[in-house]
Amino acid sequence: MQRALFRRSAQLAHQSLEGCLVARSAPVAQRQERPMSSVTVPPPACMLRPLEAPLRHLFGPGPSNVPPRVLAAGGRPIIGHLHPEMYEIMNDIKKGIQYAFQTENNMTIAMSGSGHAAMECAVFNTVEPGENVLVAVNGIWGERVAEIAERMGANVHRMVKSPGGYFSNKEIEQVIEKHKPVLFFLTHGESSAGLCHPMDGIGDICRKHDCLFLVDTVASLGAAPIFMDQQNIDILYTGSQKALNAPPGTAPISFNERACQKMFNRKTKPVSYLFDMTHLSNYWGCDGKPARVYHHTGPVSGFFALRESLAILAESGLEASWKKHKELAAYLYRGLEGLGLKLFIPDRDLRLPSVTTIAIPEGYDWREMLMYIMKNHNIEMTGGLGPSIGMVMRIGLMGYNCEKYKADMALHALADALKNCKKSKA
Ligand code: PMP
Repeated sequence: MQRALFRRSAQLAHQSLEGCLVARSAPVAQRQERPMSSVTVPPPACMLRPLEAPLRHLFGPGPSNVPPRVLAAGGRPIIGHLHPEMYEIMNDIKKGIQYAFQTENNMTIAMSGSGHAAMECAVFNTVEPGENVLVAVNGIWGERVAEIAERMGANVHRMVKSPGGYFSNKEIEQVIEKHKPVLFFLTHGESSAGLCHPMDGIGDICRKHDCLFLVDTVASLGAAPIFMDQQNIDILYTGSQKALNAPPGTAPISFNERACQKMFNRKTKPVSYLFDMTHLSNYWGCDGKPARVYHHTGPVSGFFALRESLAILAESGLEASWKKHKELAAYLYRGLEGLGLKLFIPDRDLRLPSVTTIAIPEGYDWREMLMYIMKNHNIEMTGGLGPSIGMVMRIGLMGYNCEKYKADMALHALADALKNCKKSKA
């Protein structure tokens, strides 16, 4: 009975597709017209339409627009993930990351996954269940890492500030002394609040107390200075889709010798097979073994694109990139203040150059403003995230979008929204 019903609904679904036949290529159409089909779930009508992805100005906290050169690299023909040419490309990526991170760490790779993959890889490999972890929470990213560490059974302690707050070295040292964590996490570019956290001296404190220092630079790498080796950062990661300007889906990460000592001398296996650094270090040729063996199939196109984005950064130079982001951010601040808007982070030295946060102007609904800007200007800006929701609107101008005329477009769109979205007008 049920099978008969399935057949009937499949026939009906096929019939309801009849209208699409005109636009369909002949072989598909022929397949549709086959009287007796062994499949009960028909091809969905949406799959018989071409892919549509609009061109949009991505002026939010990421992903950012990707330069044509990087898109072209990602569109090159696939090669095998274990071919020698691919190893060469992975070796290039490793060198590109070492430059971007300012590190000579051998254990430097790109995760097959987004920034979250790097977050989980860092925590899963360096922490064992029951160990103490200290997390600085001043926006969503600390909270996210705290949850990741809790899920794998760590004993998590949080230092909490409201979004946009930052931690003094003295505060950090006091809490490290109290909880004696094996790992301390801090976000360099807190994209949910628009804060760029000072880094100097924290690595030394962690070293003094035999604690690993883990830093998130997903939103800041390439836009604000970071020096992994000089700043004694033990584990550093980023994402591909922000100032690096590659498509989302790969995430550079690096471990120094101290971090390797801890993660390769564990009593227990990491909870994730995919993110286990014993395998990944071999896959990336970092373990000194003569042969790389199959672990998983890396995102070949994603690695092509990542390589190209790292090449662009190497060609233009890190210092030039930091300067460009800082100068454009200053230009944007002047424009925003000119519109009567208030910057959310009062101290300009603590503002994240890639993602600027503004306080929501009084008398406006931020959702309505953002929708207006998207509808009338084809520009994405966003609201807050996690604890900063309802507190801020975020404008991201990074990498390819770090251009004066794009800042002008963002300012023009905001000015228009301020004129047309005031609540009393509604
Ligand atoms: N950390 C920070 C600071 C971020 O801004 C983001 C992404 N917005 C992430 C981590 C997570 O990265 P992904 O979305 O690529 O997983």
